[in-house]
Amino acid sequence: MTDSRIQILAEDVVSKIAAGEVVERPASVVKELIENSIDAGASSIEVEVKAGGVELIRIADNGEGMSPAELKMACFPHATSKLREIQDLEKIGTLGFRGEALSSISSVSQMNIISAQKMSSNGVSLYIESGEILKSRPAARTQGTTVEVKNLFYNVPARRKFLKKESTELAEIVSVVSKFILAFPDVEIKLRQAERNLLHVPKKMKVLERIGAVLGRAAADHMTSMSNTNDVYEVMGYVSSPSFTRRDRRGQIFFINGRNVKSKVLSDAVYSAYASLLERGQHASAVLFLTVSPAKIDVNVHPAKMEVKFENEKEIKTFVKGAIRSCFDRLKSENSQNEEINSLLGQKTQATTEKVVREDSENQPEFIYNLNEFVQKKPFQKRPSSTSSWETPVFSADADIFQVALCYIVRIKQENIRIIDQHAAHERILYEFFSKVLKESPIESQKLLFPVRIDLTAKESVLMEKVIGQFNALGFSVELFGENSFIVQAVPAILKERDVKTVIMDILADLEERSYSKNELEDEFIKLTSCRSAIKAGDKLNREEMLSLLDQLASCELPFTCPHGRPTTLEIKPEELEKRFRRK
Ligand code: ADP
Ligand code: MG
Repeated sequence: MTDSRIQILAEDVVSKIAAGEVVERPASVVKELIENSIDAGASSIEVEVKAGGVELIRIADNGEGMSPAELKMACFPHATSKLREIQDLEKIGTLGFRGEALSSISSVSQMNIISAQKMSSNGVSLYIESGEILKSRPAARTQGTTVEVKNLFYNVPARRKFLKKESTELAEIVSVVSKFILAFPDVEIKLRQAERNLLHVPKKMKVLERIGAVLGRAAADHMTSMSNTNDVYEVMGYVSSPSFTRRDRRGQIFFINGRNVKSKVLSDAVYSAYASLLERGQHASAVLFLTVSPAKIDVNVHPAKMEVKFENEKEIKTFVKGAIRSCFDRLKSENSQNEEINSLLGQKTQATTEKVVREDSENQPEFIYNLNEFVQKKPFQKRPSSTSSWETPVFSADADIFQVALCYIVRIKQENIRIIDQHAAHERILYEFFSKVLKESPIESQKLLFPVRIDLTAKESVLMEKVIGQFNALGFSVELFGENSFIVQAVPAILKERDVKTVIMDILADLEERSYSKNELEDEFIKLTSCRSAIKAGDKLNREEMLSLLDQLASCELPFTCPHGRPTTLEIKPEELEKRFRRK
């Protein structure tokens, strides 16, 4: 045991380490094993999974490896080479430190580890089942370690039952691997499921290119580098330009000393930097790498090490926010010709300087409130003056129907004034159409003259494979077209006027934010498709389009609300007007 760098932690140290479940799902196994490879100094890591990681997870690295004696030690609970005393935590430089991963994983799976060190001519292979070493034999391997985890939770049926669908577990694995891809740009990382390469980044690929591999090219193209340092903190990273936003928060990825963390403090900092630059439901992307002296943070607060505690939260928030704001200022002066950013930024600076003070003192993000104001103003700002419906006189004989604020249709029906929300109405129409058609297929498809190719990130593409059947049932024709790329050959005839790519991307983004059970998915998918392909606020409609919309609404079964329950129609009767004018 003395020649082993790996030792069992003393009882009193163990009791001070945040305990909890390390292995919740296949993605947590992948996370722990990649951490080990990185800690072993690997410059190349290959991950292969089968059946969403439940059947197999195999991770091979070219790190320093373990001696036969160390390997045997490594699988005991609380065996680690990274920590001896609790004080070591204050200067911990490795990702792991609890000595729990290998033992926990091996106790809920059938695990095989082969490891070899540089100088030894021979490696060794261990087979462990339910935490017990069953076989140990010499094995050939070049320097490094391969861990193979089979049949995860085979001996814990209750756990296995709670796993989500294969594609969901796989998506989670992709997300975990993506974080390492961003954090360790010098390491080659590969992820494969069965025969398919899901991710592959070579050594020394630039961070921005890696962001492209993870979040998509377009996102990376709209990000700008930022950095800042003071005596205590250092931050560098990439943030999205305020005009390029996402509908989800997936673009907000934070690392502290190389460790991917969820951090409310950091995401608050991002939102307050962008306060009022974003519309409601839109999110900025920010991939941030923070370096903080280990003494200023506590990494020992979460079993999966997904959270850290800052000694001074306010200080770090102000620091990060300031760094993003100065990046905007730089953008502004560099792109003085870029009116969009400028007007957004200009408008913002005045409106929120006083707000910032309040926000910090109340310790409460106020951006939500602020955003609402912005969104409410939006339709009026956006509306081109030449098509302004406010300015159109409406007293001519044929003005029995007109559009207001590019959002509402107003119709005089005998003595009543009817106001229809164009988006809600169209959503209802499409929802009923698709629901009906699904029952009475076949649905009418319209072949596209020019098939549309859609390139997705690995994560989106896993999701797409999950719902491709739903798309095709509604009359789309979507097919896999090579790695992470799909081709759309046809769309439901009723949607032939809409922009197919936007519709599909929006649906995927929405699906990604939530998870649905199989039963919910069908109806939810129809709702989403209806919502994402419906006419939007801001779309100009001509008289024919308005009349046809109202006609179709009238023949709906439940015309008065959209599928989410918001009203489609408001009716004002003369009695109401009398009341309002206090005639009565
Ligand atoms: P921890 O990472 O917290 O120390 P683990 O259970 O993950 O605990 O690993 C136990 C020990 O096994 C590590 O401290 C390390 O010395 C060794 N080890 C695990 N995986 C590898 C690997 N891929 N290459 C080299 N050594 C490893
Ligand atoms: Mg570990």
